Amino acid sequence: MMILALCACTSMQPSSASFQAMDTLMSLKVYGGNTNLCDTLKSRIQTLDGLLDATDEKSEIARLNAEKSAAVSEDTDALLQRSLTLCEQLGDSFDITVCPAVRAWGFTTGDYRIPSEHERKALADRIDYRRVKADHGTYTLSAQTELDLGAVAKGYAADVSADLLRDGGAQAAVLNLGGTIALYGKKPDGSRFSVGIADPENPAAYFGTLDCDACVVATSGGYERYFERDGKRYIHILDPKTAAPVDNGVRSVTIVTENGTRADALSTALFVMGLDRAADYYRAHRDFDLILLTDKDELYLTEGIFDDFSLSDGYDYTVHRLG
Ligand code: AMP
Ligand code: MG
Repeated sequence: MMILALCACTSMQPSSASFQAMDTLMSLKVYGGNTNLCDTLKSRIQTLDGLLDATDEKSEIARLNAEKSAAVSEDTDALLQRSLTLCEQLGDSFDITVCPAVRAWGFTTGDYRIPSEHERKALADRIDYRRVKADHGTYTLSAQTELDLGAVAKGYAADVSADLLRDGGAQAAVLNLGGTIALYGKKPDGSRFSVGIADPENPAAYFGTLDCDACVVATSGGYERYFERDGKRYIHILDPKTAAPVDNGVRSVTIVTENGTRADALSTALFVMGLDRAADYYRAHRDFDLILLTDKDELYLTEGIFDDFSLSDGYDYTVHRLG
């Protein structure tokens, strides 16, 4: 996903920062507000990364995974609480205890392998967020349970950033947190934000652009991390029921909504649900918008953003309206 020109004609110069965090390149642009706001955001996001990264043995999540019981910081507590609620709301498509399966397939190290059916069954049995117990900031995991917050960490970083931008008096900001874009405030020139949605075949390009006001735009795509064996692609988004990569004809899912953590969780979960269940979930809630692309070049847009989306030149996707 990429950001199109934020403002063509304004005298207000943004402050900006680019850095590596949460396994991706992030770039921030902040208009107005306290000096150093960009640096404040950057260091806060890097701190969050240090708390939440299950693959960093010094992180709070890694410590909780190893020791099975630990008191955690306010941020980790807030994100775990939100995530557990989202697990409940999203049913069997979303589970923050997928960690052992993500590791077994090699997605944490890049040493990819295909676990046997027997192993997959055992891995699926280890996935169940109900085995995570919370008690006033102290969390306890059952013996076989391990957490992976990869599906929500960037969304949470978007929410924390929005609070910092508000406290710091920023006028507007565009935060590209790698797959999760946070659009804050009102642009200095009064125009709307414009976000490009990555082409899964060529993520440096975008198949379309979305005009929007302040919101979070979170995309999940198989193209972000995957490996291939015997001509088949195995992606980093797993079905908690089978502990195996999703293979349901979905190529990318973008969620547009106000809360970043929810946007990020929904993009992962609706990818796992597949087209029909994702459409049902949308119809049952209608408090977010959705852009879903299938491997047949069918593009589904919900009615709330239908008129705000335009397909890029050269893409002849069949566009459907979800109402
Ligand atoms: P995202 O890019 O936001 O879709 O998040 C994908 C990451 O979340 C993966 O790299 C895994 O670490 C983790 N993950 C994969 N499948 C699931 C799932 N079904 N529920 C929760 N987390 C998942
Ligand atoms: Mg996500």
